[in-house]
Amino acid sequence: QPQLSIQNFQKIFKTGDGVKGVSLDVFKGELVTLLGPSGCGKTTVLRAVGGFQEPDSGDILIEGKSVLKVPPEKRPTAMVFQSYNLWPHMTVYDNLAFGLKIRGRKKEEIRAAVDKVLHLVRLPGTENKMPSQLSGGQQQRIAVARALLLDPAVLLLDEPFSALDAKLRLEMREELREIQSSTGLTMVFVTHDQEEALSISDRIVVMNSGRIEQLDSPQRIYDHPESLFVAQFIGRMNFLPAQGEGSVVDIQGRRFAVERPVEGAVTAAIRPEDIVLLDGEEAKDQLSFQATIRQVMVLGHYAEVTADTVAGPIKLFVPREQAAALEHGQSVPIGFMRVTAFHR
Ligand code: ADP
Ligand code: MG
Repeated sequence: QPQLSIQNFQKIFKTGDGVKGVSLDVFKGELVTLLGPSGCGKTTVLRAVGGFQEPDSGDILIEGKSVLKVPPEKRPTAMVFQSYNLWPHMTVYDNLAFGLKIRGRKKEEIRAAVDKVLHLVRLPGTENKMPSQLSGGQQQRIAVARALLLDPAVLLLDEPFSALDAKLRLEMREELREIQSSTGLTMVFVTHDQEEALSISDRIVVMNSGRIEQLDSPQRIYDHPESLFVAQFIGRMNFLPAQGEGSVVDIQGRRFAVERPVEGAVTAAIRPEDIVLLDGEEAKDQLSFQATIRQVMVLGHYAEVTADTVAGPIKLFVPREQAAALEHGQSVPIGFMRVTAFHR
């Protein structure tokens, strides 16, 4: 039985936007991410699970029971937002203890629980600080701690790290993963950042215009995007016009095998890391293209190279040593290691 089951959830706002039917099962201990561009309906789904958004239709079950009639404060959920929402006039301890006090827990019990959760979020000894004395990252850790103290059946996180700087965001990802593995908590995480989603999720729900485009493991989403939207949204991708002929596509006379059969005018998608520079012998391969180097941008251990081919402009990733030998205007043979194709 899933820990959380969203069944054909629908909520359309007066503007016609909203969520147009989302079904999703999340299992105990899983971290599932709702990923998609701004406005695709992620927050609406999360708010519905938390009880802050009534659906037009559909059902939401937690541990097998419908929660539609349960008010937010009685639901077995806790929510963390982008804005930390700590009470500014209360100490860290009081911020954390509040939820347990209103549940009538004993003083010693609360103290022990607060101490434990502060260790979990790596902020022991901060009980007497005011939120304003903490950095943004620390405040968000306290907000996570406060949610954890409620011992929710499902923890809901709506873009919790979006307000933090890039380096801190990376740290928080790792910490959240650690918290998840040490607590076994079930989490639904919302982000518009595909890298964040790929790095922390057990499964990803890619959303577009109120609908699910693909629901898969990060690896599958990256390696086997099922739609042009997912291919465009996740990772870097080159798109070239091609002709579908069943299990192969023709790109300017070169024919490549594709996983999903396609017919007619299609878009071929090739990841920059799946394009390789060929040496003299390999270049005689009938599948190779000549590429004219336009730009070489060295980014640490690899370079991002822009080049023109008969099929169109492409970007490829090249190891730094190889990139050093490339000159503007030079023509080099390249090969495509893997091609995916989509109907337009
Ligand atoms: P996301 O979190 O993916 O950015 P939202 O769930 O917040 O998307 O919103 C989905 C769509 O529904 C957007 O087009 C948004 O403008 C619209 N929307 C959200 N909440 C409301 C509301 N209370 N009233 C009217 N439209 C809303
Ligand atoms: Mg949102």
